[in-house]
Amino acid sequence: MSEIQNFIEKAFAGRWISGSNIKDAISDSKAFNSKGIKTIINYLGESFINDYEITEAVDTYMRLIRYITENGINADISLKPSQLGMLKDKEMLKSNYSKIVAEARKAKIFVWLDMEEAHYVDTTIQLYLSELDGAGVGICIQSYLKRSEDDIRKILLKGAIIRLVKGAYSYTKNKSFNTRESVTANYSKLMGMLFSQGAEFTLGTHDVNMIKEAQALNKEYKRNVTYAMLKGINNKYMLDISKSGNKTAVYLPFGKRWIAYSYRRLKEAGHIKLILKSLMKSQKLE
Ligand SMILES: Cc1cc2nc3c(=O)[nH]c(=O)nc-3n(C[C@H](O)[C@H](O)[C@H](O)COP(=O)(O)OP(=O)(O)OC[C@H]3O[C@@H](n4cnc5c(N)ncnc54)[C@H](O)[C@@H]3O)c2cc1C
Repeated sequence: MSEIQNFIEKAFAGRWISGSNIKDAISDSKAFNSKGIKTIINYLGESFINDYEITEAVDTYMRLIRYITENGINADISLKPSQLGMLKDKEMLKSNYSKIVAEARKAKIFVWLDMEEAHYVDTTIQLYLSELDGAGVGICIQSYLKRSEDDIRKILLKGAIIRLVKGAYSYTKNKSFNTRESVTANYSKLMGMLFSQGAEFTLGTHDVNMIKEAQALNKEYKRNVTYAMLKGINNKYMLDISKSGNKTAVYLPFGKRWIAYSYRRLKEAGHIKLILKSLMKSQKLE
């Protein structure tokens, strides 16, 4: 790796990513767990089309499950369908997903499906529903997509556990809400649906207004809500809400393929001042 790459990885990616291997994710998890915060661990990488990459991703999740158990970590795992064979063969995808879910169930580890590009949503929901009869699986739904209201209604009826996020992928004209304001307004609406119709769910956001709105709603509904954030965006706030008795989780990616993930985080920070503020603001769990 060149020195420039090394510098960029340390300066940017290092803030959002645990490190390049499982042990880094485990030691990061221990630090968060010691503050009462659960982790959601993801192995970096997406859009795999080579068999060796797909096999390696499956093996890594199997090893991760073992490490989580052996180290007594309070962690979920979160998989991207496109790293398990979605772009190659739907049968392979299904069999890889089922294999990981079966192993995680034995270890009592919760398995999330990340949601990726808009054109993957149908396959991802079908995949999720294929294992919904057993316990311990959840799916991410994005408020930037107009279809999500319908999707939530349908899958909640089947007992889905949802992680609601705004969405990190590109807007798709007619299919998405195309401004930050409208995506946030839809987040608020979908969150209302989760409170009125769902028993257990996770709200993945750094939007303090949304978190406050949720906390107010939960005074009435008393649901099993977890507030989740990405590593390195606002650890301090997460620690504060954890201390005041809320269930919290941090999404921890690890691995060498940090570029696509870091690019999405940079794009969200959107503004150089925000990026610098986020980089300078202490993310220590003190
Ligand atoms: C636990 C979790 C899991 C996720 N899983 C998925 C998934 O499976 N699929 C998917 O598409 N997306 C996922 N996301 C990402 C999500 O869709 C958003 O892109 C991301 O959370 C930013 O949206 P926001 O809700 O924080 O709101 P925003 O309106 O984007 O941000 C709210 C505030 O947070 C701060 N902020 C947000 N991002 C940054 C940043 N990078 N740097 C500095 N400050 C920032 C800003 O101050 C901003 O004002 C996940 C997010 C979380 C927290």
